[in-house]
Amino acid sequence: MEWFDKNIRKPIDLFSHPVWFILRDKEIHCPCVDHVTKVPDSECPICLGLGDKISLARVNAAHQNNRISFRGDGVGFSEIDIVNVYYTYAKTSIKNGDIIVDGEDIDVVKDVYYEHSGDQKTVYWRIETVPFKNGKERLKKLLASTLRKAGYDG
Ligand SMILES: [Zn+2]
Repeated sequence: MEWFDKNIRKPIDLFSHPVWFILRDKEIHCPCVDHVTKVPDSECPICLGLGDKISLARVNAAHQNNRISFRGDGVGFSEIDIVNVYYTYAKTSIKNGDIIVDGEDIDVVKDVYYEHSGDQKTVYWRIETVPFKNGKERLKKLLASTLRKAGYDG
């Protein structure tokens, strides 16, 4: 696993910085979601246009860019371009479909693994993501304005 293996603690310590986890509760729709069409208001400041009840968490995490290729079932090769893998010690309820915002990067969680280092001493979360594609700039803008109103800068 390249530079993130045996001595996992060192890279996590060295490269961790605060990122935002956007945790989605898909059971609860935001009031902006249209009853008929089920489409959320894309400019909604409450759900950031995602349509679900969300909560924001500031978490220290390190991330690594990977280029991952995989063989699709029976359809030859396909490739996911850049995949960000996040590492954190923080106890988190992050799950598939949640979103991580790290500066310019906005990623959607695909898989979450709870792991430990080769010597078993260090436990951490490894979070695999794919890039958030639709409406990235809009989400970034909505998040920035929501955070500003909540008293955060940038
Ligand atoms: Zn909404």
